[in-house]
Amino acid sequence: MPNWITNSTNTILIIMGLIFFTLFIYMAFVSYFEKEKNASQKSLFLALFLSIPYFLLAYFNFSDKELISPILIAIPLLLVFILFIPLKGVSHIKTDIPNEKIDERDIMFSRHLLKKEDERYKEYYERHPENFESDEAFQKLPGLLSKGSSNYDRLMFAASEASFFTVDQFKNVVDGSVEPKPINTSPEKISHFLKKWAEKLGALDVGITHLQDYHKYSHVGRGDDYGKEVELNHKFAIAFTVEMDSDYVATGPQAPIVMESAQQYLAAAAIAVQMAEFIRQLGYPARAHIDGNYRVVCPLVAKDAGLGEIGRMGLLMTPKQGPRVRIAVVSTDLPLLVDKARADKSMIDFCELCKKCAVVCPSNSISEDSRKLINGVNRWQINSDSCFQFWCKCGTDCGRCMASCPYSHPDNLMHNIVRFGIRNNFIFRKMALKLDDYFYGKQPKVKPIPEWMEVK
Ligand code: SF4
Ligand code: SF4
Repeated sequence: MPNWITNSTNTILIIMGLIFFTLFIYMAFVSYFEKEKNASQKSLFLALFLSIPYFLLAYFNFSDKELISPILIAIPLLLVFILFIPLKGVSHIKTDIPNEKIDERDIMFSRHLLKKEDERYKEYYERHPENFESDEAFQKLPGLLSKGSSNYDRLMFAASEASFFTVDQFKNVVDGSVEPKPINTSPEKISHFLKKWAEKLGALDVGITHLQDYHKYSHVGRGDDYGKEVELNHKFAIAFTVEMDSDYVATGPQAPIVMESAQQYLAAAAIAVQMAEFIRQLGYPARAHIDGNYRVVCPLVAKDAGLGEIGRMGLLMTPKQGPRVRIAVVSTDLPLLVDKARADKSMIDFCELCKKCAVVCPSNSISEDSRKLINGVNRWQINSDSCFQFWCKCGTDCGRCMASCPYSHPDNLMHNIVRFGIRNNFIFRKMALKLDDYFYGKQPKVKPIPEWMEVK
């Protein structure tokens, strides 16, 4: 082989060795700061393991070098090609529309509030005797944020209660009187203003959709209006997310997870209440839908507003934070510019492969099966009874599924490159899952409680 070819090959080998080394050292640093010790150590190992063969090959001359060098150069190039070539492989995934409304009285958050001495209790179990046994079982358990629960922590539970208490103070201001003279503005301008303002207030992603019948609960399941048919005739809905901190989510089912959930419910509620009041000041009716005070099913609205997909664990999965978000909605008649549907079906395809949340769930509430047709929609449905029973034992909202989801990794360059590949190419999806298992484990470990929270 002529000298110039040998020299060029050696240069390429050295460059590739350097690229591998730099890439995995970067990953080791990012993982270290994400407190992912295992991932950091494995990245360090790969920095050496993958770069050294290239340097050795460039340095030494031996008989098979001409055969091995092109192979070692071709493999990473092929992987990069797979990452960037658009082979979405999602045409088989259809988007369906629910054909029935959900009755809020049937959800666990409503059922756990039923008290034996109340008329509601009798009325509910006469209509739904099938839920009686399971509900009796969780009523006997210590309960969410309760003293006898396995993760009881006086400080953190009190902090969570304080956030929920504050959310509850908003109950009389989710709706209100409307200024008589409506503003004259274009849907484009006011939609842009609302989105930017919501972001300034702390929202991550904001989307607008037409309010559909199937977005609304059929009946109210909590509060003074319990049992009333939901009457909500607004034309538009603004959905937005707020981020849950990955460090606190990763401690679930220990107490910091519920503290973080409560805090983000409060953050979302504060934004929604302000936005609704703002719209009413502009002369249009508006209602905030916040924790414990919903008339709409927030994940369904958020999905149609283009914020994400409903994944295996039944939660909204957003492209950059996965399920690690809380949602609130504002419904209104203010004319708005509706967002185009941005369904990312690659998320559904990834969920079909992944099943990590199902494997880690301590109460086996998440199915490992494929999606099933429920209410006209192909979807996964978790066993909310067994999930809630687990919450009532541990006292927190657990979040093990959320913490283990590959989409829940922090929103940074390293994870966003992987997210891009997952979106773009079905082969990469399979690789990404194996890599996630390798770096973070098939069953990611519960992270320790941040030191500042440990007050003895
Ligand atoms: S853990 Fe896996 S299967 Fe579960 S929601 Fe996340 S991506 Fe989907
Ligand atoms: S919150 Fe916990 S118990 Fe409930 S589905 Fe997720 S992992 Fe399972």
